[in-house]
This record gives sequence, C-alpha cells and structure tokens, in this order.
Amino acid sequence: MSQTEGVYGYSAVLMGSPILLKLFEHNETLASQVFRLIKQYEDLLTVNRAESQVMSINHAAGRHPVTVSRPVFELIKCAKAASLFPDSIFNLAIGPLVKRWKIGFKGDSVPPEQDIAALLPRTQPHQVVLDEAEGSVYLAHTGMEIDLGAIAKGYIADRVRDFLKRQGVEQGLINLGGNVQTLGSPEGGWSIGLKKPFSGPDEMLGVIEVANKSVVTSGVYERYFELDGKRYHHILDPRTGYPLDNDLDSVTIVSTDSIDGDIWTTLIYGMGVEKGCAVLANRPDIEAIFVTKRREIILSSASQFRFTLLADGYQLIT
Ligand code: ADP
Ligand code: MG
Ligand code: MG
Repeated sequence: MSQTEGVYGYSAVLMGSPILLKLFEHNETLASQVFRLIKQYEDLLTVNRAESQVMSINHAAGRHPVTVSRPVFELIKCAKAASLFPDSIFNLAIGPLVKRWKIGFKGDSVPPEQDIAALLPRTQPHQVVLDEAEGSVYLAHTGMEIDLGAIAKGYIADRVRDFLKRQGVEQGLINLGGNVQTLGSPEGGWSIGLKKPFSGPDEMLGVIEVANKSVVTSGVYERYFELDGKRYHHILDPRTGYPLDNDLDSVTIVSTDSIDGDIWTTLIYGMGVEKGCAVLANRPDIEAIFVTKRREIILSSASQFRFTLLADGYQLIT
C-alpha cells in the first residue's frame, strides 16, 4: 500500500500484468476483495494455463460444444461480434497463431512461413459456434483456439468498477496493465499518464484527464521481440498471420466501458488514422488518440477528455 495526498494505492500482479487500485480511503479489505474478483475472472478466462473455462472450449475443439458460465458466454459473444465487424482485424480465434509466435513469452521466435500458412485456416471467427439456449461454445475444427487476451482486461476492469460502485465507493481507479477504468471525478478529473513509446516506464508522452471514463492503450512497444533488426510485436494481423505493420506506435481509446476501449484499440489500430477517424465519426461515445511513428499525436475528437502534451519532439494534431 502506498499513500500520496489522500490517495491510497494497492498493487498486485495478476493476469501477467501489474495491477493498481487507487482509493480515497485506507481499506485493505476492499482491496483484497477487488484482487480476488480479478483472480476469479482470470481463472475463468485465461489461456496461459492448462485449465480454465476457455481452455475447456479449446480442448474440445472439433469434438463437442462446452457449456460455460453466463459471463464467459457473453464475453465470447461480444468478442465474436467484434471479430465480424466490417474491416475488423480483431479475431477471437487468433489463438493458434498467438501460441505459435509466443510473443512476449519465453521461446518467442519467427515461425516458418509454412507453419503460419497451416495455422491461418484454423483462425476463422465464424467457426466459433454459439448456442444461446445451451449457453455453449463449439469450435468447429480441431486445432482451433479462442484467445481473449485483447478483451478480457477491459471486461474485468468494468466488473471491478461495478463492484466498487455496489460497495458505495464514489471515487476510485483500477489499472489492469494499461486498461484504466475510473469511478467519479476527484477535483475535476483523474489524470492518466500516457507512456512515451519505446521509452522508460516514467517517461510520459502526455496526460489525459477524465471522469467516469475508461482509458485503454494498445501499443506496439508493450510486448515485442527483435530479430535481425526487425521488431515483432503482439498484435497479429489475422489476414497474414504476422504482426500488423502500419505507421502507428499506439492507439488509446477513451470510452465509458473499458471493454469497448479494449476492443476498439485493436479495431482502430488495424484501420489506421484515416479509416479509424471515419468510422469513429459515427461513434461519438468512442474517442481515439493515435500516436504515429512520425511522432504525431492525432485526436479523433476530444469531448470526453482533456489531453496535455508533455514530451518534446511530438506534434499534436486535432
Ligand atoms: P495488451 O492489453 O496486452 O496490450 P491488447 O489488448 O492489445 O493487449 O491485445 C493483445 C493480445 O490479444 C495479444 O497478446 C494476443 O493474446 C491477442 N491478440 C493478438 N492479435 C490479436 C487480434 N488480431 N485479435 C484479437 N486478439 C489478438
Ligand atoms: Mg485490447
Ligand atoms: Mg488490452
């Protein structure tokens, strides 16, 4: 536990990520309840262990449907819908490629081309078959694997917010390894630092001020490995099977629900600035901050937050 100016910080490591909870009261009991809640969801959703509800679905691929608990079913349904969105690079069935590349995990390497070609046909989102009445999920081919890595943290951040609300907490913040969800508006807003790409953990690109909003960043500098001078990061392009290459270093999404932030960072990263801004013109509830490799910062709009640029050498374009 840490304390600065009346804000109490509680930290843990869960889902392979640093977790930080901020409260305006000293309440170890509440903090441990929050961490327990996160752990319960991790136990249902993880694919980084042999057993979980999602792993049960994966183990049964090509054999039989698996009935899962309602939240898991709803989350998979939501991830499938995001995968079928027009021009979406979000793909909940990306699991076989994620497992093969192992980016950010021990043993990561560039797979031979023929391995990628062989795995691509096993990553079709429409072959994730959902049965509403049974609450079951069936992967229609052997070797298929669901991976909820791009959506789970956002979903869980929302569940933590709901839990804190039910406990009567008026102001709080949860940071699940880059997925931030906030409750309330202390002194006009929460200040959330945006990391400067490829820099030390304390180097800030800028600060976003929000109230009752989620701030999610997906960056190519978060998890990657380098080989022969080339960088391979953890957002894969389901059309090619390789890390998606474009002119972006990161995308940050400001939205009410963190699940939307988590989904839209991937969607928008895949679309790029021009297409992304065009799509978001019809979604006033979702706002994006693009950081390009040319060191430009582009805001799709900024009605739900205030952004202050801190780093030298970057140019803010609105
Ligand atoms: P993080 O919060 O770890 O930065 P993101 O929310 O950006 O992660 O999601 C990246 C993770 O999602 C990867 O580690 C992998 O598990 C999974 N993933 C990779 N590519 C895709 C994709 N095209 N669609 C859906 N999930 C993906
Ligand atoms: Mg995501
Ligand atoms: Mg994420």
